[in-house]
Amino acid sequence: MPEPLDIAEKSTSPTVWRVAVNAPLLASFDYLPVDGHVATAGDIGKRVRVPFGRGDKERIGVIVAVLASEMALERLTQASELLDTVPVLDGELLESLLWLSRYTHGPLGEVLWQAMPKVLRDGEALFVAPSFVWSLTEAGRTHLGSAREGRPKALLSALANGPVSEDALRVVHENFSTTARGLLAKEFVERSEIALDTRVRNAITSVASFDEAHPLHALTLNEEQASVLASLQSRSGFNVSLLDGVTGSGKTEVYLQRMAQVLASGKQVLVMVPEIGLTPQTLRRFESRLGIPVYAYHSSMSDTERAQTWIAARTGLARVVVGTRSSAFLPFESLGLIIVDEEHDSSFKQFDGIRFNARDFVIQRAYRWDVPVILGSATPSLESWQNAVSGRYHREELQHRAGDAQPPRIVVQDIRAARLQAGLSPDALKAIEQTLARGEQVLVFKNRRGYAPVLLCHDCGWTAKCTRCDASMTVHNNGRRLQCHHCGASRSAPNACPDCASLALHPQGVGTERIEGFLVDHFPDAPVIRVDRGTTQTRDGMLQQLSKLGDGAGILVGTQMLAKGHDLSNLTLVVVVGADEGLFSADFRANERLAQLLIQVAGRAGRASRLGTVMIQTHHPDHPLLALLINGGYKAFAAKELPQRQAALYPPFAFLALIRAEAQHVGDARNFLVATRELLANELGVEAMGPLPAPMPRRAGYLREQLLVLSETRKPLHTVLTNALPAIYALPEARKVRWSLDVDPYDLY
Ligand code: ADP
Ligand code: ZN
Ligand code: ZN
Repeated sequence: MPEPLDIAEKSTSPTVWRVAVNAPLLASFDYLPVDGHVATAGDIGKRVRVPFGRGDKERIGVIVAVLASEMALERLTQASELLDTVPVLDGELLESLLWLSRYTHGPLGEVLWQAMPKVLRDGEALFVAPSFVWSLTEAGRTHLGSAREGRPKALLSALANGPVSEDALRVVHENFSTTARGLLAKEFVERSEIALDTRVRNAITSVASFDEAHPLHALTLNEEQASVLASLQSRSGFNVSLLDGVTGSGKTEVYLQRMAQVLASGKQVLVMVPEIGLTPQTLRRFESRLGIPVYAYHSSMSDTERAQTWIAARTGLARVVVGTRSSAFLPFESLGLIIVDEEHDSSFKQFDGIRFNARDFVIQRAYRWDVPVILGSATPSLESWQNAVSGRYHREELQHRAGDAQPPRIVVQDIRAARLQAGLSPDALKAIEQTLARGEQVLVFKNRRGYAPVLLCHDCGWTAKCTRCDASMTVHNNGRRLQCHHCGASRSAPNACPDCASLALHPQGVGTERIEGFLVDHFPDAPVIRVDRGTTQTRDGMLQQLSKLGDGAGILVGTQMLAKGHDLSNLTLVVVVGADEGLFSADFRANERLAQLLIQVAGRAGRASRLGTVMIQTHHPDHPLLALLINGGYKAFAAKELPQRQAALYPPFAFLALIRAEAQHVGDARNFLVATRELLANELGVEAMGPLPAPMPRRAGYLREQLLVLSETRKPLHTVLTNALPAIYALPEARKVRWSLDVDPYDLY
C-alpha cells in the first residue's frame, strides 16, 4: 500500500475553530470555518452552530481557540453558521472561565454555558433595550403659548426646559403614550433615541460627582468603621480583605462608602449576596444611598431581565450590580471592586452541574482585573479565616454594633426534665409572653420544617420511612400527610401501624408547623407568621410573609431562611428550639455550620436600640461548643476549631475532591469507584479514601457511594485528577452510574 504521506502533508494544518459545545465531554472539537471565513484569533469567544452527534443534529458552541489542526482536512467537519460578529465571552471573563473549567475539572462547554444568559444559549442576539428622549419642536413651543389646559399642554410644558427621558415622562404623565402620539402627529414634539455611549457616559458622570468621603445620604461612620474604610482605601490593585464584623456592626455602610469611592473613579462594582439576602429592601437600600440605578441579578428574575442586566454590565451602563451566585459570571466593562457579603454562606457554592464556589471564583476574576475584593461576614468561613491568619487576606474588624444597638444577651436554657410544649420550655413561653406584652416581636427558630420529623408507633417502634430513601418521612399537615424531604415523595399518613395494627401512632419531635400551631392556640391575640420552604417558595413570598407581621407585637416561626439579612427593629427575643441535632453530626463542617447558624440567628435580636435576648434551649448545656460561643464568640470558636481541622487533615489544611456515584443496581456505584480509585492511585501525597457508602446510602431509589481524594497541597490533587479524568470518563463502569466530581466539597454528603 502506498504511504499517503503526500496528501496528508498537503492537507494538514488547516486553521480551524476549536469549539466547546454544551456536553458532558472533556474534549473540545475542531471545525473548519464557515465558507468564505478565514479563522483569526478575533473569533475566540464567538458562538457558532456546528453539526454534532449523529444524523444532522446541530448544537451551539463557543470558539475557544483558533489553531492549526492536527487532523487532516478530510476528517474535519465544517461549522454551519457563525452567530456573532463580536465575541460574547472574551477578555478577563473568558480567561477566568477557562481557569474555572481547569479548577473544577468540569467540561469547558458546560462552564461556558453556565456563564451565558439563556438568550445567548439559545443562539439569539443580545441588545441593550433602547432608551428615548422627547423634546419640543419650534411648532410645539409656539403652540404651548396658546394651548388649553389638559394632558397635551402638561406634557409640552414638561419639555419646555429641554429634552426629558421617556422613562421619566412615563412615570409622571398619565396616559403618556396616547398623549405623546397625538403631539407627535402634529409635529409638536420629537422622539429620539439616545446612543448607548452617551447613556454610558451619563451613567459614569452621574456617580463621578460623589464627594469622596460622603456619598449621597451617607451616615457618619463611627470610629471603627472609619478606620476600616481608610484601611480598605489604602490598598489598591488586587488584594482580598476579610471584613469580620459582628451582626449589626455596619458592614453594609462600609461597603457603601467604599463603593462610592470606586464608582466616583469611573469603575463598576459587583456586590454578591446570599440567595435569600437579595430582597427588594436590600436593593432599595443601595439605590437610595448611592442615588443611582442598581441592577439586580438573581434566579427569580425572568430571562429577559437577566439578559438586560448582563448586557448593561458589559456595556458599562450598569455601574453597580447586586446579585446572587450567578452574578459571578457577569461580564464587565471596567470593574473596580467586588464585594461578597456573608461570604461564608453555602448558597455561593453550587451543588450540581459545575460544582464551584462563586466566592472563590470572583477572587480569580478580581485577580485578573487587578482590583480589590472585600469578603464580609460576622461568621467567616474557616477557609477565609485561615487565609487571614496566614496573611494572604487582610483582616479588618468591626467589633461593636453600630449606632446605639447593644449585643444581645445570650441565655443557655437547660431543658433536661423540663415539660416541653411543642418543644418550648415554660421559661421560653414566659419570655415570649413578656415580650409580646411589651409590644415587641419574637423569633422562634427551628431548623426543621413540617409538623414533626418522625411518625412512631408507640406499641412496636415502627417508624414511617421513605421507600426510596434511607430516611424518615416528615409529618406534615397536622399529622395527616407524610413527606420525604430528600426525594419529595408524599403520601397520607396511615391510621394504624402497618406492622402491628396499633392506633398509637405519634408524631415525634417538633417542626416549624407544629410550633406555629401551638403558638397560635397559646397566644391567640398575637399574629404568628411562619417562614420556611413550606410557606414561602420565593424571596418575594418571604417578604410578603414578613410584612404581615408589621411593626407591632408578634411571633415569627421559621427555619434558617430567617437567619440572615432582614432588619426587624422591633425583634427583641430569639428562641432557638433545640440546637442539639447539630452538636453531634459527623461532618467535618458541622461545628462551623452550627456556630455560624447560632450566631447569625442570635444577630437578629435587638438590632435597634432595644436590648435583645437569645435563648438557646438544649439538653446539653455544658457542651463545649456552646460555652465557647457564648463566652468567646466566633473568634474563640475559630481559634479552637482550626487546630482540630489541622490535626484531622481537613480543609483549610488539606484539599479535598469528592467523587460521588449512584446507580439503581447494587454494586454498580462501587465498581465504578473501585476502578476510579485504581486510576488515581499513583501520585505522591494524594490519598484516595473509599469507596464508602454516602451518608445517605440510598436516595430516590439510587444507591450512593463516594470516594474522597485528599492531599495536603493543592497541586498534586489537581495533577492526579487532570491525568486520570479522561480514563475515568472512558471507564465501561461509568456507563452504569451517574457520577460527579466535586472539588472543594462543602460537606461530605
Ligand atoms: P451589618 O451589615 O454589619 O449587619 P448594617 O450595615 O446593616 O450592619 O448596619 C446595622 C444597622 O446600623 C443599620 O440599621 C444601619 O443603618 C445602622 N448603622 C450602620 N452604621 C451606622 C453609623 N455609622 N451610624 C448610625 N447607624 C449606623
Ligand atoms: Zn406498631
Ligand atoms: Zn425519599
